[in-house]
Amino acid sequence: MTEIERGILYLVATPIGNLADFSFRAVEILKRVDLIACEDTRHSRLLLDHYGIDRPLVAFHEHNEETATPQLLERLRQGQAVALIADAGTPLVNDPGFPLVRSARAAGIRVTPIPGPCALIAALSASGLPTHRFAFEGFPPRRSAARRARFEALRDEPRTLIFYEASHRIMDTLQDLAAIFPPERPIVIARELTKRFETITASTVGEAGALLERQPEQRRGEFVLVLGGAPEASPGDGLCPDQERVLRLLLEECSLRTAVALTARITGVSREAAYRTALRWCGQGGAG
Ligand code: SAM
Repeated sequence: MTEIERGILYLVATPIGNLADFSFRAVEILKRVDLIACEDTRHSRLLLDHYGIDRPLVAFHEHNEETATPQLLERLRQGQAVALIADAGTPLVNDPGFPLVRSARAAGIRVTPIPGPCALIAALSASGLPTHRFAFEGFPPRRSAARRARFEALRDEPRTLIFYEASHRIMDTLQDLAAIFPPERPIVIARELTKRFETITASTVGEAGALLERQPEQRRGEFVLVLGGAPEASPGDGLCPDQERVLRLLLEECSLRTAVALTARITGVSREAAYRTALRWCGQGGAG
């Protein structure tokens, strides 16, 4: 049986569509806490009833979290066990709770996660795009000008980029992505994850808008957009500024052959890359 501790704040992940995606531990904890703070008590009651969880609920959402936070902290200080849940997925991931967690930790109250579903991780893991480095950008700004400015700032980001988007903005967002990112940039549209009509569609920034235009049903539901990062320069593509500086200095003092060899030894760049750069500077490098 899961032991419950007193005076502790549990951050409990809940399903993002499929009710069965609720961990045993999450259910056990929620059955035993003194209080469950949730965004929408009516919405969460449906899920909790399904699992026979009948603990008291208190509303905790973006409009009251600043005022509700001190009340929850007081309960925690009194030794009560409190759980925070979101409407769906992991609390604090584009959902309320940050001020509460920050204040609780600052007050020396133990905060512990009960991990589980999270739309961005589910989408990333199934996207087929690189997962070893990624950046989660939440919802893009609502207005097109601000959205394009945000995309502009991210265009050269080499990490995989992840966005949340709502159905009423998906087409505008895809249009703005196409205006800023190169058309061949891969994008995966993860829609209605874990639900009956889940689709995970791989496309490109240049084609994704037209794809959804042709299939109205693909414009409905909840979306995660996973965008391939900017290609990183491979070692043969060019020299970084430090490597260029070394090569320039050596070219002033030695033959091209020696300068290339020394640059490679000193900076670790490949001889081929240094040689190509040197030839280009000397006007013999052609287009490459
Ligand atoms: N806390 C949640 C999490 O852990 O993923 C995210 C909450 S955020 C307010 C809601 C957004 O998450 C939706 O608009 C959508 O972009 C994304 N999302 C949530 N559930 C999803 C699902 N089943 N399929 C695709 N996207 C989902």
